[in-house]
Amino acid sequence: MESNFSIANKIAIVTGGGGVLGSSISKALLKAGAKVIVLDIRQEALDNRISDLKKLGEITGLVCNVLDMDSLKAVRKEIMSKWGRIDILINAAGGNMPGATLTEEQTVFDMKIEDFNKVTNLNLNGTVYPALVFGEAMAKQGSGSIINISSMATYNAITRVPGYSVAKTGVNIFTQWLAMELATKFDEKVRVNAIAPGFFIGDQNRAVLINPDGSYTERSKKVLAKTPMKRFGDITELNGIVQFLCSDAASFITGAIIPVDGGFSAFSGV
Ligand code: NAD
Repeated sequence: MESNFSIANKIAIVTGGGGVLGSSISKALLKAGAKVIVLDIRQEALDNRISDLKKLGEITGLVCNVLDMDSLKAVRKEIMSKWGRIDILINAAGGNMPGATLTEEQTVFDMKIEDFNKVTNLNLNGTVYPALVFGEAMAKQGSGSIINISSMATYNAITRVPGYSVAKTGVNIFTQWLAMELATKFDEKVRVNAIAPGFFIGDQNRAVLINPDGSYTERSKKVLAKTPMKRFGDITELNGIVQFLCSDAASFITGAIIPVDGGFSAFSGV
């Protein structure tokens, strides 16, 4: 008997699938038997990530800009004509940007408004636009699961990342809002949730967490002091919650924002 945690044969789209989190989640979805379509703005990133994953199952890479509705609609057309449905959308395109991170010496008044706009645009609209384009197909078919990526920067203020924090907090309320809209106006089987990863060392934050000599920065030490598990996460530790939220086992869960953070968001630090 198939478990209700199964996502076998589901059609899954992963935006930003050429990146660290997106490719790790794509791999987990493939291993669980889903058919995965990876979208990324960078052809090279798609080529690099996908060649490794092809042996695990059916995976397709498509170049797509999540900030361009025409690009998203063209991809939706292609997916619907080939697979006929969309069951899962993981919105993993996003991330902080070096220009949008204040240095220790800068204040918010030194922030370049262009960088603020870039980081809020990618992280907020880069989630909203794919959710609208692919969510419309889910609403029509009467089922589907969307997972957005939130952040620890939405629970309490984290120094140096004003734009990223604002954008991810927008992702949270959009997650709740779209969950409400789709369940009330379409079908309760179209669900929208978010995961809020804690601290995982990745390309976007390596420089602020690890010194060139490999030791932890002062910022890292502060993060670990507020993390009851006293360690950084491994990105594979996101896979369990992603598969659960995409499966029928999560049939009564929509509009939730679930931290995966070793306890960081639960702990006052004292
Ligand atoms: P990453 O930079 O490795 O990957 C992001 C991918 O998105 C890249 O491959 C990039 O080419 C793609 N992308 C950028 N702009 C795009 C666009 N306009 N259209 C399509 N694709 C585009 O970042 P990551 O570390 O994998 O982060 C993924 C998500 O997880 C982000 O939302 C990030 O904020 C979030 N997150 C990451 C961490 C972490 O520790 N790595 C922690 C919390 C949240």
